[in-house]
Amino acid sequence: MKKGTHTKTQRGRWAADNGAKGPREAPLMVACGDKPPLAWARALFVSLREIFPHSARGETRLDVHVNPAQHRAMTAFDDWRARSPFYDETHEALAQSVRRFVAREVAPHIDRWEAEGELPRELHKKAAEAGILGLRYPEQYGGHSKGFDNFHGLVLTEELAAVGAGGLGASLMTHGIGLPPILALGSEELKRRVAPPVLAGDKIIALGITEAGGGSDVANLKTTAVRDGDDYVVNGGKMFITSGMRADWLTCAVRTGGPGAAGISLLLIEMDAPGVERTRLDKMGWRCSDTAAIHFSDVRVPASNLIGPENGGFIGIMRNFNSERLGMAMGCCAYARVALAEAAEWAQQRETFGKPLVGHQSIRIKLADMERQIETTQAWVDLAAWQVKSGKDRPADFAMLKVQATRMLEAVAREAAQVLGGASYITGSKVERIYREVRVNAIGGGSEEIMLDLAGRQLFGGKR
Ligand SMILES: Cc1cc2nc3c(=O)[nH]c(=O)nc-3n(C[C@H](O)[C@H](O)[C@H](O)COP(=O)(O)OP(=O)(O)OC[C@H]3O[C@@H](n4cnc5c(N)ncnc54)[C@H](O)[C@@H]3O)c2cc1C
Repeated sequence: MKKGTHTKTQRGRWAADNGAKGPREAPLMVACGDKPPLAWARALFVSLREIFPHSARGETRLDVHVNPAQHRAMTAFDDWRARSPFYDETHEALAQSVRRFVAREVAPHIDRWEAEGELPRELHKKAAEAGILGLRYPEQYGGHSKGFDNFHGLVLTEELAAVGAGGLGASLMTHGIGLPPILALGSEELKRRVAPPVLAGDKIIALGITEAGGGSDVANLKTTAVRDGDDYVVNGGKMFITSGMRADWLTCAVRTGGPGAAGISLLLIEMDAPGVERTRLDKMGWRCSDTAAIHFSDVRVPASNLIGPENGGFIGIMRNFNSERLGMAMGCCAYARVALAEAAEWAQQRETFGKPLVGHQSIRIKLADMERQIETTQAWVDLAAWQVKSGKDRPADFAMLKVQATRMLEAVAREAAQVLGGASYITGSKVERIYREVRVNAIGGGSEEIMLDLAGRQLFGGKR
């Protein structure tokens, strides 16, 4: 598509005004509100110096300053933030910083990584240097937490999702599920040993809960860790583990005690230890994220790698799930926005029966219905994030929100594919990839049935 050649409807504008080369690039444009760019940027710079004094001194590479030259008109992808009470200029500046990182370091390579089945290790290093891996982790372990709230975390999730490949966020950010149990429950020695190299992008950490025998019934997991002198000896296996092929460490749920939740511990397993075997699993989606089946055969793990108290791991697993589910719900909103943006752009360009698709009422209704579903889900995501920030959150809400978000994504991806027609079925379109990734969102991190049953039990009672 040539610059400025299409009708200037709301969604056409971002492509034309910003010189985007086509629908694929358009969702990566930047929002800045109605203020004149220079005044807006000046005010932002001043406020950011107050909010992020450490950033202003250059101690972190997270670039939260806005370069007016990089200002672009409001876009369909993220203009919702400018109309939300939960997001301010600092969130917008972070979004632009991450967006530049993604445009520079990810977008040119993502198709190759999808074909290769994994992300390069250097990407972790670069993301760490840009401040992405450490966002919202404690400063004493190499993170950047001052001045950042959980809405900054949501913004990061959204911007990583903009490239339309879910494996990027899943695999680059696996420390988001592997590290928190260590920071919440681990000894100080363990935190200092593990967190800094992970947040520096030198080591990769993954989370191992699911087993071949089942993932939903976590309390019934079978992998054993038996104390022998100063070690635990681990036998069993884990299944479907994200980043499992590349991980240096696995935060692993094991059975150290009797049956049920009260017999489960968390153990940090060195993935190069004798007796660890990994097998790569090919997948429907998330292809740039390596996924492994892992087998443990008499693996010796130092007892100092126990995370939290023996037989006290279940609570750490459950606590982890809540933030994972909120992040997944945010990701679903972002992927749905990408799909809608592609469908809307296509509807401007594609003509049938003598007019653009968007000129047909039933197509306009589809687009509006997609937007309706995204906005209602986003409102709940933001409310849930506010509830976490205010200490008013309930686990049942995260479970139901995850179901809401994945069903919304399923509906939006379907309709986007319908608007693109045959083009949606050809490899290379973002909609094709997002469509393939719907299921992993609905199953991973707790499947629909389990989520709704969990919410039902918590809200309305009833025995397991
Ligand atoms: C790409 C990918 C990446 C993943 N990454 C990780 C990871 O990094 N770490 C990790 O630990 N796990 C990971 N998982 C595993 C994921 O969390 C599990 O697949 C999920 O929890 C479901 O477990 P399961 O597949 O064993 O299904 P099962 O537990 O066998 O369930 C199968 C189906 O039956 C339903 N079901 C089960 N019990 C009931 C019931 N009582 N009532 C009604 N319906 C029921 C479930 O909802 C599901 O639909 C990943 C999965 C995928 C696909």
